[in-house]
Amino acid sequence: MSDSRSYRVIIIGGGIIGLTTACTLLKEYTSIDKLQLTIISTTFSPETTGDVSAGYWEPYGVSLNDERMLRWARYTYDIFMQEFFSTKAAQAGVMQMPGHILKSQNDQQISENDDFIVPSFLPLVRHYRVLKDPEIRMFDHLGPVTGFVMSSVVTEVRRYLPQLQRFLECDSRVKFVRKKIHSFSELKGEADIIINCTGLSARELTGDLTIRPARGQVIRIHAPWIKAVYYFETVNEGVGYIVPQSDTVVLGGTFQLDDWNTTPTEQDTRHIRRMCAKILPALEQIQDGVEQAGLRPYRDGGVRLEHERTTDEIDIVHCYGHSGAGVTLSWGCAKDVVEIVKTLLPVYEQHSSDLPEHEQLWRLVL
Ligand SMILES: Cc1cc2nc3c(=O)[nH]c(=O)nc-3n(C[C@H](O)[C@H](O)[C@H](O)COP(=O)(O)OP(=O)(O)OC[C@H]3O[C@@H](n4cnc5c(N)ncnc54)[C@H](O)[C@@H]3O)c2cc1C
Repeated sequence: MSDSRSYRVIIIGGGIIGLTTACTLLKEYTSIDKLQLTIISTTFSPETTGDVSAGYWEPYGVSLNDERMLRWARYTYDIFMQEFFSTKAAQAGVMQMPGHILKSQNDQQISENDDFIVPSFLPLVRHYRVLKDPEIRMFDHLGPVTGFVMSSVVTEVRRYLPQLQRFLECDSRVKFVRKKIHSFSELKGEADIIINCTGLSARELTGDLTIRPARGQVIRIHAPWIKAVYYFETVNEGVGYIVPQSDTVVLGGTFQLDDWNTTPTEQDTRHIRRMCAKILPALEQIQDGVEQAGLRPYRDGGVRLEHERTTDEIDIVHCYGHSGAGVTLSWGCAKDVVEIVKTLLPVYEQHSSDLPEHEQLWRLVL
């Protein structure tokens, strides 16, 4: 039986946060035929921030003291893992692989009892192991390091987002509009609720100056022999990371706060190549590649996920400021956003399904 209530929801933002929210909304409002969901965005894939990202699951660039991060990351991990072991994996670009996370130790930091401190997100993954001798000796060429290997997942956003979009386009309740919103009041009277998933541009739209760019440059190369993720953090030279995708490998990276430059620089290219070749020396021989730079939506107080009723009585649920972890936190945040929406637009009829959670959220459209 379907519910005859009529709800109008607008999502601003067609990136990973906007589209995972849209899918979660449809899942929770399955019984509401008269839901009208409009997704308004200036850009869609392949022009979103996630399309530049490595799509690696790790709560990177966000504070892990915030208990919400771990909850969001855990739920998202479980969805991606279910997807890897489903018929979606190839088309959606979801890959399970080992992630080696290594930290350089300077001489003073090393002592006999210097056990690796396990990051709080590590127990969320299905399998991990702190590297012990002789395992750590694989990385002798990096000098003294500590680290761990974990079962991680890489979601290639430029494959994943088009699949979510196709699924959403097939639902008659959903409409896509490509345009820029300059102020929420432009939409007054057009929706019962607006969901703000505008990433870094939330700074302009909301006036929240605590959201700022954390510039990241990457190089996409052809290196088919690399089958695992390597992340190497040094004391004085920054980080290098290597993240395989389905037909390329992403080399990174930089994390430059308050830098708005979206053009790749020679200096960053040299730094990234040098750091990554330290980890895997064969990379010295690869000179080709496509350089890209994107702006992570970093926010001083962490992700803003909350309801606001404006002075002109517009209900907005904000969800922005995911920094370097928008892919990692996406499904978890979407779930919390929709829980807030449900307090404002109630669903009286509970829908139950035997499908696995990821299939309830979205399905491949062949
Ligand atoms: C180099 C790099 C590497 C990264 N690697 C990883 C990684 O390995 N793992 C990970 O989890 N994360 C990673 N990230 C971070 C991740 O990409 C971001 O956190 C995530 O993409 C943010 O998603 P979003 O949907 O909030 O923002 P966006 O992708 O920026 O989407 C916002 C959307 O809103 C639209 N919009 C904005 N303002 C308006 C407006 N006023 N009107 C209409 N539309 C509007 C935009 O057009 C856009 O489509 C990386 C980022 C970079 C740059």
